[in-house]
Amino acid sequence: MVRVRFAPSPTGSLHLGNALSAVANRRFADEHGGTMLLRIDDTDPARNAEGGAEAIVADLEWLGVAWDEGPVRQSARFVRHREAAHLVGEPDDEGALRFGRTTLLRPDGTPTYQLATAVDDLDFGITHVIRGNDHRANAALQAELIRALGGEPPEYVHHGLLLGEDGRKLSKRHGAASLADLRELGFPAEAVRAYLEELGLPRHDVRFDLARLRRLSTEALAALSDEELAARVGVPVSAAPVLRGARDLVEAREYAKLVLEPPTTPVDAPETLARARELAEAGLEPRALVRELKAVGGDLRALRLALTGRDRGPELWAVVAALPRDELLRRLEPRLG
Ligand code: GLU
Repeated sequence: MVRVRFAPSPTGSLHLGNALSAVANRRFADEHGGTMLLRIDDTDPARNAEGGAEAIVADLEWLGVAWDEGPVRQSARFVRHREAAHLVGEPDDEGALRFGRTTLLRPDGTPTYQLATAVDDLDFGITHVIRGNDHRANAALQAELIRALGGEPPEYVHHGLLLGEDGRKLSKRHGAASLADLRELGFPAEAVRAYLEELGLPRHDVRFDLARLRRLSTEALAALSDEELAARVGVPVSAAPVLRGARDLVEAREYAKLVLEPPTTPVDAPETLARARELAEAGLEPRALVRELKAVGGDLRALRLALTGRDRGPELWAVVAALPRDELLRRLEPRLG
């Protein structure tokens, strides 16, 4: 029976490379009818951020990556970790317990990552450890520890890391590095998940492809129903037509504002506005209204300005469609400076 684990350190919102591990573990479990444990590796106090574990749980839920067991905090298992250290470790002069050159228990009696991870992978019956290349060097030692404890080590699979476009470790400097960063940029969870699924289990390090994520974002938003899209943006469903051209949720929110907040910019185009009003009152549907206005030489830039207060933005007919009739007519009233 396949049993994998995703074991982040609680440093805060998941790094995209860690999220790749989470998705890869989930997929591997699903493909083999196995289960996945969520383990929080909190043995290093310096890496434990306040609320770090909660942030990870929220990130996984957002990404739609489920786990079957846990979260288990390594710190809660220190009695067992100590017991195991005494079985296989030798004391050194400083009062630490060591296994060869590796510290298992610090002089203050707290277990290290290496010890806790080997013990937990053994005790939880982990069959496959799938994680980033940065842990490749730990595999031999962890397998040896597990054997010394009388167990059979799991299979270790290490995947390539996610790098920035400059080939260095992906960090906020590159624009985004964590799921929180991507959320803030307005990328829907479906797009991030699809991007990570597409990367699969890279053998070598890969460079983060923001352009690809943007395309997946556009596709993910297009696949949402009007109701879902409006709910994500937090606006009434009547605004949906204007959200449709947006490539991410931040842009969608900006577009929504254009129709939800009445503009005050003066517009000096009385003939265009009067004609647009006539067409709107005659009940022309939005595309026809814009086409007709254009055909009679109406000033479309002025129309846009009257409707949104801006001279750029989503397609004009979509703005017309997203405005309730009363509001549309109100915005077409002469508004001189
Ligand atoms: N907690 C480690 C990390 O976040 C991963 C440990 C492991 O997968 O063995 O990098």
